[in-house]
Amino acid sequence: ASRWVLRTKVHLKAGRLCYSSSSVPTVKLFIDGKFVESKSSEWLDIHNPATNEVIARVPKATQEEMLAAVDSCSRAFRSWSETSVLSRQQIFLRYQQLIKDNIKELAKSITLEQGKTLADAEGDVFRGLQVVEHACSITSLMLGETLPSITKDMDTYTYRLPIGVCAGIAPFNFPAMIPLWMFPMGMVCGNTYLLKPSERVPTCTMLLAKMLQDAGAPDGTLNVIHGQHAAVNFICDHPAIKAISFVGSNQAGEYIYERGSKNGKRVQSNMGAKNHGVVMPDANKENTLNQLVGAAFGAAGQRCMALSTAILVGEARSWLPELVERAKALRVNAGDQPGADVGPLISPQARDRVCSLIQSGVDEGAQLLLDGRNVKVKGYESGNFVGPTIISKVRPGMKCYTEEIFGPVLIVLEADGLDDAICLVNNNPYGNGTAIFTTNGATARKYTHEVDVGQVGVNVPIPVPLPMFSFTGSRGSFRGDTNFYGKQGIQFYTQIKTITSQWKAEDATLKSPAVTMPT
Ligand code: NAD
Repeated sequence: ASRWVLRTKVHLKAGRLCYSSSSVPTVKLFIDGKFVESKSSEWLDIHNPATNEVIARVPKATQEEMLAAVDSCSRAFRSWSETSVLSRQQIFLRYQQLIKDNIKELAKSITLEQGKTLADAEGDVFRGLQVVEHACSITSLMLGETLPSITKDMDTYTYRLPIGVCAGIAPFNFPAMIPLWMFPMGMVCGNTYLLKPSERVPTCTMLLAKMLQDAGAPDGTLNVIHGQHAAVNFICDHPAIKAISFVGSNQAGEYIYERGSKNGKRVQSNMGAKNHGVVMPDANKENTLNQLVGAAFGAAGQRCMALSTAILVGEARSWLPELVERAKALRVNAGDQPGADVGPLISPQARDRVCSLIQSGVDEGAQLLLDGRNVKVKGYESGNFVGPTIISKVRPGMKCYTEEIFGPVLIVLEADGLDDAICLVNNNPYGNGTAIFTTNGATARKYTHEVDVGQVGVNVPIPVPLPMFSFTGSRGSFRGDTNFYGKQGIQFYTQIKTITSQWKAEDATLKSPAVTMPT
């Protein structure tokens, strides 16, 4: 394990983030407490999105390796589920400290594989760390309920108990935060965990797995496999796996929800988005424009809560030129370069897709106010960069409106009043997040009350709830009935046992059998 960590150490070379090994490192599997080289014959290249250089190779785990991983989870569950809740809490208390101590190393690995800026990558780790910190409250979170004296001498109480082996399937855009939504919550409840990170950004997960081991998690409590469809199908089908947490696109999420549910598993599936920011003419202009630009173009728009669609209401339409000026001022650069605001997209294919969606807007009659397609980044000519792009005069039927773009593109629609804006948002199939910018409390209340979206910000552009709440995307952005982290996360990863007990004094012993339904 220590050799593995050494080989994947990230450092700066000629001003660029690199792995320390001269040869391309291979990403290991984490099975039964060991970091092992896969025997697979199928490997995928991992690229630095700023240069497109191959920086590592990740295996598609073999069937045998995936079986070994799930068997390890099953064996470990027997003792882990019986470990005291205080011991589990102690492990996660140590874990949160290790993550804090290594936040910069984790962030570097994210920037190298995912492309986002170092500051943003630290935010990615930090938001995951907060979930680990919350998991440390498990001694309160897992409390059951009691009601004494249900009838004479009879009390009822409930236990929250783990469900078994749980699995997580993660996307590429938050290499730390999203895996940290998954296994800490599952494990602290007493479950063991099989994680499949995105095959495009697996290194951060491996560093997190090593830190969890260092924090004292017993062998087999967390296993990590790599791969694509075969690994996903394995997770959906294996009978020992009782629950699946998925985050990613609708295409994969709906498939996993259906296949996993058909096999009797609990599935929670967080999926795509089209988040609208409604700008009222009474809003604080300075704040609103800065917040819109930050939330549309931060992380190069590769956030499920990116504010990718603005609705300018009434007089707010006249703010467009200033919006464009602020977007223009953002610096596009490799994520490890000082002052970078917008990093590259994950792959050349993602870049081509984003560019073609921009073109579709032009072809369908929208107005391209700022075009980032031909951006040149000195020293990084082969990177997957798209600069901030703003398309106005967009209408609901256009492809750039109906599809999630997942790039640094803000599309702008107009509305005459608040009712029209609400109607637009509610007619969009996604329900992940939205924000309203206003200084009027009644307007804000009407919006939060009438809009049919799971997470609403009032003068808050990216309203991702802290982990004492849950991540509550809805409609086309979510399948399942219990959300990620917070109280709902505990509910997802536990089952309830209800005990009704009667202790009668000897002189109250029953004289004959009671054959009627007890009431
Ligand atoms: P993705 O769906 O391509 O990949 C997610 C995971 O599913 C990966 O582990 C991948 O290996 C697997 N996968 C991919 N295609 C599959 C298929 N056809 N069948 C089975 N498995 C498949 O998603 P991505 O590109 O990594 O991430 C971006 C997407 O994730 C965006 O749509 C974004 O909105 C969404 N996302 C949603 C949230 C949320 O909380 N709602 C958070 C982050 C990202």
